[in-house]
Amino acid sequence: MFEKILIANRGEIALRIQRACRELGVKTVMIYSQADQEAKYVRLADEAVCIGPAPSASSYLNMPAIISAAEVSDAEAVHPGYGFLSENANFAERVEQSGFIFIGPRPETIRLMGDKVTAKQTMLKAGVPCVPGSEGVLPEEPKEIIQIARRIGYPVIIKAAGGGGGRGMRVVHTEAALLGAVNMTREEAQRAFDNAQVYMEKFLENPRHIEIQVLADTFKNTLWLGERDCSMQRRHQKIIEEAPAPHIPHRQIERIGLRCADACRKMGYRGAGTFEFLYEKGEFYFIEMNTRLQVEHPVTEMISGIDLVQVQIRIAAGEKLGLKQRDVVFRGHAIECRINAEDAATFSPSPGRITAWHTPGGPGIRVDSHAYNQYFVPPHYDSMIGKLIAHGATREQAIQRMRIALSEMVVEGIQTNIPLHRDLMLDAKFVEGGTGIHYLENRLAAQQGGSPEK
Ligand code: ADP
Repeated sequence: MFEKILIANRGEIALRIQRACRELGVKTVMIYSQADQEAKYVRLADEAVCIGPAPSASSYLNMPAIISAAEVSDAEAVHPGYGFLSENANFAERVEQSGFIFIGPRPETIRLMGDKVTAKQTMLKAGVPCVPGSEGVLPEEPKEIIQIARRIGYPVIIKAAGGGGGRGMRVVHTEAALLGAVNMTREEAQRAFDNAQVYMEKFLENPRHIEIQVLADTFKNTLWLGERDCSMQRRHQKIIEEAPAPHIPHRQIERIGLRCADACRKMGYRGAGTFEFLYEKGEFYFIEMNTRLQVEHPVTEMISGIDLVQVQIRIAAGEKLGLKQRDVVFRGHAIECRINAEDAATFSPSPGRITAWHTPGGPGIRVDSHAYNQYFVPPHYDSMIGKLIAHGATREQAIQRMRIALSEMVVEGIQTNIPLHRDLMLDAKFVEGGTGIHYLENRLAAQQGGSPEK
């Protein structure tokens, strides 16, 4: 096991990784920006290194500063968390070239999965079902593009090979709009991702978002740890996640899970990862792989009893996965609500000082948050200030526990989306389970009396 790990992230996930390290007896080095210097989790670390001013570009995305911090602190490995540099193949490469271990997949794997076209090709080869679409990047020839769209059938979606974060996509309903949309997406992709390559897929009109968690060690042992339903989204941002996914037969999930584990073995995957699928009319369609820990990993931890962060660290340290697939047993149901510092109705960010903070507890309740009374939520970063997780023997019990937890939780001084979560936990369709990815936006639009946002 390592003696010391550098945590290259901030906020709740930095604290989550720190806790895993402490349980493993590993010392932690926390990097922080000037905006985070007062944070308690920074003080709880064995060492802390300021890596720059508040803006992410000068701090949490500043590769040379992070690598110097690892050098001066004698850390052996770097945990990137999620977001920031976690899926940056160049960062992983620089970390390893500087003599540290990157707690994540090999840089080549990150690169392969970071390009959506090569990711999809890899999955097709491994027998993972994908959304019907173009075979690779779209050609230049307009006639060929038209032919491809006719073969797939409208509506289609044009997606940037280098896209991410819900950007670089355009839905096309008619042939008349096709070529214009392809050109516009190419131009945008060139500007945003420095890669003009685009591809085409069938646009699924009302899918659910279901993802599969995997783990792989460096000895070709792989596991899948069940699924998560992350369909409750706004602007492609997940708000509520749960495991297992309601109303999908476990046998069907198992078939897909085994495919994912097998795909990991074939590509020599290392560490934790997530296969994201759209699920429509009883079929799974792969859309992308996330080569890192996910925000929503706790729901999987709650039903599997496996500490994903500790396993990530053990794999990076060269240990074998101690478990076999048959040892993985799922218990009950877990739901996570992301608590954001934002207005519950307008969604505008609400940074500032927290003047009252009371977190819920009791059976099955878990709070992952770095916030506390008098904590100042800086305006420079993502608005998520914590996650509330409820576990129960059944989905009904998990929902009931979440309702109680939300009613106990107090955050004052800033606005949060807790009122929205309280509403959603009482929403008849949510309670029934199995809503699609457009459900929340349609519901919000209906409440405002307008038409759904695109
Ligand atoms: P990103 O990396 O930007 O998150 P994804 O490929 O994961 O891109 O797609 C983001 C979201 O866009 C999906 O969660 C889904 O809502 C929508 N989407 C992507 N592909 C399709 C498709 N073929 N049909 C319908 N919706 C899609």
